Amino acid sequence: MPLLNLETLSQNDLTSIERASLWATTFVAERAETWELERRFAKEGFESAAQHQLTGLLVPEIDGGEALSKIGLARVLEEIAATDFAIAFSLVCHNNLAGSVARNATGNLRSKMLPGLVTGTSLGAFLLTEPAVGSDAAAISVSAVQDGEEWILNGEKSWVTNGTDADLLSVYAQTDQSAGHRGIATFLVNANTPGVIKSPAYELIGGHGLGTNSITFENCRISEEDLFLPPGASFKAAMEGIDLARVLVSAMCCGMLRTALSTASSYVRNREAFGARLADLQGVRFKLADVATNLEASRLLTYQAVQSLEDDRDASVQAAHAKKFSTRVTEYGIASCMQVMGANGAKRDHPLPRHLAASRLTQYIDGATEIQDVVISRSLLD
Ligand SMILES: Cc1cc2nc3c(=O)[nH]c(=O)nc-3n(C[C@H](O)[C@H](O)[C@H](O)COP(=O)(O)OP(=O)(O)OC[C@H]3O[C@@H](n4cnc5c(N)ncnc54)[C@H](O)[C@@H]3O)c2cc1C
Repeated sequence: MPLLNLETLSQNDLTSIERASLWATTFVAERAETWELERRFAKEGFESAAQHQLTGLLVPEIDGGEALSKIGLARVLEEIAATDFAIAFSLVCHNNLAGSVARNATGNLRSKMLPGLVTGTSLGAFLLTEPAVGSDAAAISVSAVQDGEEWILNGEKSWVTNGTDADLLSVYAQTDQSAGHRGIATFLVNANTPGVIKSPAYELIGGHGLGTNSITFENCRISEEDLFLPPGASFKAAMEGIDLARVLVSAMCCGMLRTALSTASSYVRNREAFGARLADLQGVRFKLADVATNLEASRLLTYQAVQSLEDDRDASVQAAHAKKFSTRVTEYGIASCMQVMGANGAKRDHPLPRHLAASRLTQYIDGATEIQDVVISRSLLD
């Protein structure tokens, strides 16, 4: 079986990959550094993504979406992250929610929420993490208490990607502390609902285009109809999506590392030291050769895991290997590429400093590196 079966890519996959690549290298490339330096959510980036049909990637065509395969989605995100990780990950969070609403919501809730997500008039966010709870997600404490035909939400969520500008919040909340993860339910909450309080964006090492913040719920009343995934189904659904989320991070790392390698390669071909091109110095050549090997290995691990998911095979260990390896070699590889460029490697007139900061963030999202080791060692030893 070929590792990456390109024949399985649909016409929608191929046109979306091409469209995403062109959009990223034109619209995003001209603005990504500004979003970072202004430390703000890439609002016009999201609006432009919607115009380029990048907001309903996992939604069926009958609902106005692109119905991409998982391989198609990974390739789209690799292309966008090659220019800017923040806008790519912002789109992951939005598209995952849109896809989940298309798959799981029914009746009124579906017809109320899905169209806006697909057209991009409504920006989605995923709220699981809390100030005191990250990796051990089953221990969340934001509470949901039923009161007649309403639910009342209380507590704080942290690290909400898209949070500063989000219109629709997918909130994981505990309905029964004694039931552990089986008590967790998911609610779709309009961000304008009274009792929803958004904090300003976090000041981070980078990735400010993500608009990441905390969101507090203070006696926030929502209707019974806004219960999206009931207790029992909710945590299971979150965990079922985690393998795809991890390989998408891995694919985005491949994009960033690819850009670092091409930027450094072109720089060393044109710069001289001691009467020779940097590109002719063996120390420089071998450093970039190492980056190229790691990029090749990352892509193989990534697309092997995506192909397994596409074929409905269990890919949890493959996804863990891919995410752990790609995030690690991307951070190290971008730094190596900056090193061969000398001090010019640290200037912000090319994307490598922005990618280096983003590669640090990839070590935490969708399961920290150590959590990948938990998955891998369990398969090895238990
Ligand atoms: C840029 C960014 C965007 C994010 N966006 C979102 C979002 O949109 N929605 C959302 O819900 N969350 C989001 N997150 C949060 C992310 O999911 C968490 O950071 C992640 O789950 C890890 O949790 P933590 O940071 O609280 O680390 P902790 O769980 O506190 O872990 C601290 C350290 O201990 C290690 N550790 C924990 N448990 C174990 C173990 N069993 N064995 C060995 N080591 C262990 C961890 O690997 C880590 O190194 C985002 C994070 C970042 C950085």
